[in-house]
Amino acid sequence: MMRPGRGGQVRRVVAAAVVAVALAAGCGGPGTPPEPSAGPTSAGPASAEPGGGAVVSLTFDDGLRRQERMARELTERGMAGTFYVHSTRVQADGYLDRAQLARMARAGHEIGGHTRTHARLPELHPDEQRREVCGDRAGLAALGFTARSFAYPFHAVDAAAGAVVKECGYNSGRGRAGAAGERTAPADPYNLKTPLSVGARTTLAQAQEYVIAAERRKGWAILVFHDYCAGCGPLGVDPALFTGLLDWLKGRAVAVRTVGDVIGGDARPVPPVRAPSIVLNASLENYFGKEGLPDCWQLYGRSATAAFGRVADARSGRWAGRIEVTGSDPARLRLAIKQDDGSCAPRPGGQAPARPPGLSVWYTSTAPVRFAVSTRSGDGVWSGWITGPEFPATRTWRQATWKPRLPDAAGISFGLVLAAPGQATFDDFALR
Ligand SMILES: [Zn+2]
Repeated sequence: MMRPGRGGQVRRVVAAAVVAVALAAGCGGPGTPPEPSAGPTSAGPASAEPGGGAVVSLTFDDGLRRQERMARELTERGMAGTFYVHSTRVQADGYLDRAQLARMARAGHEIGGHTRTHARLPELHPDEQRREVCGDRAGLAALGFTARSFAYPFHAVDAAAGAVVKECGYNSGRGRAGAAGERTAPADPYNLKTPLSVGARTTLAQAQEYVIAAERRKGWAILVFHDYCAGCGPLGVDPALFTGLLDWLKGRAVAVRTVGDVIGGDARPVPPVRAPSIVLNASLENYFGKEGLPDCWQLYGRSATAAFGRVADARSGRWAGRIEVTGSDPARLRLAIKQDDGSCAPRPGGQAPARPPGLSVWYTSTAPVRFAVSTRSGDGVWSGWITGPEFPATRTWRQATWKPRLPDAAGISFGLVLAAPGQATFDDFALR
């Protein structure tokens, strides 16, 4: 529901802070409630392993650039880790790029998948789950990485999400956090249990205890790490603690192996993924970009007198988007679906391409608004923007819909723009 406005101030698009918040909320790390122990383990595979069969996997989420240093620390000690990355964020500011990932893979580290947009899978329609999971795996393959292992963002998993991860060709999915540990022959490889993430508040003794517990039960400890720095947020691990843990591990009789190697099995083919027929991140809930923009959305036509920010006056979910324009040319600033090859930009018309697409969005505004639309031709060229009819200013949530006559298009991008100076808040885009 709408709450009273916040003085009309839209924060400028800046976002180290937003990234930090996203990361803190990100993987549901420290603070995730513990779940009861999985109980006594049956004997895993025969114990030719050191440590009588106990295994440790060191896993790293989100493809953050500083993880390259963690990979190097592992390599120097003859260890390999599993890095769960987003195909869509390779090359993005603050994230590992393709060359870094390739170097890590050559050093024996495993590159796994983590969805395209850090999506909370159980909340999504199965079609969108497939795009998030299979699309991400296809994206990694296109970058040269054959991913066998997957990790659920926010540790959010249910049976349906697990089925999609399996269908997309992954051999495992790292799931629930807060468990005592996992077996080396897991009961459900699509919901691998982990202890809580190793973060800023984790002590070396606590991290060691995860390993000791696995040794005791001849089980598997899957340790979860995110950022690498002292005092950079709840999920940042202090380099001194990290290297201390690795040195301690090296002296233990326990095998350190990648998740893919513990689970075993070859990489299976990636099933074909169709371009979406719906708007991804339509409620503007996922924010991972450095610039504080919602995933799969892009800001076009920036200027000194126009700003975009997310606000908590959401119609659904946690966030809505707000644009504010004080200068002339109010329709210049557009938050619109990212103009890409179909990873974010949907196919208009869904199942029936001949049908005019129906665009809709919920909004409140102090000035009239209109849709701005651009389409992609089959050869990948995006058209100029066209704008639709005006919708009136409204203090309460109102749905705007428009069925533009468009040429046959392979992709569509659209958003809402102001028709006069003022501000507009929007949420829950849809394409039908
Ligand atoms: Zn994550």
